[in-house]
Amino acid sequence: MAEQLEVHQFICRSDNFAVLVHAPEAGLTAAIDAPDANAIEAALAEKGWRLTHILTTHHHGDHTAGNEALKAAHGCKIIGPRPEEARIPGIDEAVGDGDVFEFAGHDVRVYETPGHTAGHVSYFFEEARLAFVGDTLFSLGCGRLFEGTAETMWQSLSKLKGLPGDTKVYCGHEYTLSNAEFALTIEPENAALKARAEEVRALRAEGKPTLPTTVAQECATNPFLRPDSPEIRARLSMPDAPDWEVFGEIRRRKDNA
Ligand code: ZN
Ligand code: FE
Repeated sequence: MAEQLEVHQFICRSDNFAVLVHAPEAGLTAAIDAPDANAIEAALAEKGWRLTHILTTHHHGDHTAGNEALKAAHGCKIIGPRPEEARIPGIDEAVGDGDVFEFAGHDVRVYETPGHTAGHVSYFFEEARLAFVGDTLFSLGCGRLFEGTAETMWQSLSKLKGLPGDTKVYCGHEYTLSNAEFALTIEPENAALKARAEEVRALRAEGKPTLPTTVAQECATNPFLRPDSPEIRARLSMPDAPDWEVFGEIRRRKDNA
């Protein structure tokens, strides 16, 4: 069995999550994206951890702004999506769909999850059941379609939906409260969603994060993963449309909300 990993998540740049994954025995620490070098340095100092890796999900500045400063300070290895290689500052190793690399004895599987950006990847630590999905999936939401179609994004979300239900899901942003208000307009009778919305309101009122979530929780509550829900299909008057079209309509409504 690979060693137990410690995950430290914190908010920076207002609503971005930074996440550090630490393997104490191997002495390795990976940052999942690097929204803010100073905030990550402060977290590393507080924990007494040495940064060895950055796993980049996509090229947006709010996910890569800290790459160069952190690499200069720590000489860490930066892994990122092959299709966006030219746009990831400091990248050392480009990865793509189906690639598996090792981190402290853990297999990390790479899933291409395009839609938000054309080359976006998600990282799945198989044995530890940890998924880092960047701006593809949010709790009760999903990323905007900047560089992809609804059909592409639906395929990406379907990959994440297929991960084991108990997988802990870490996302790029704390958007859950506004996502919950929108989700309730799409599937207001969903009891699991109503309960999650209550929980989210309480957590945010206390200034606490709503993440990580789990695959099972998102499958039960997130309308973007539920285009097959009879309630949603009835509400959108799309009884027979393919799932990706229903998904696309939900995304369109969120963009206009
Ligand atoms: Zn983004
Ligand atoms: Fe982002």
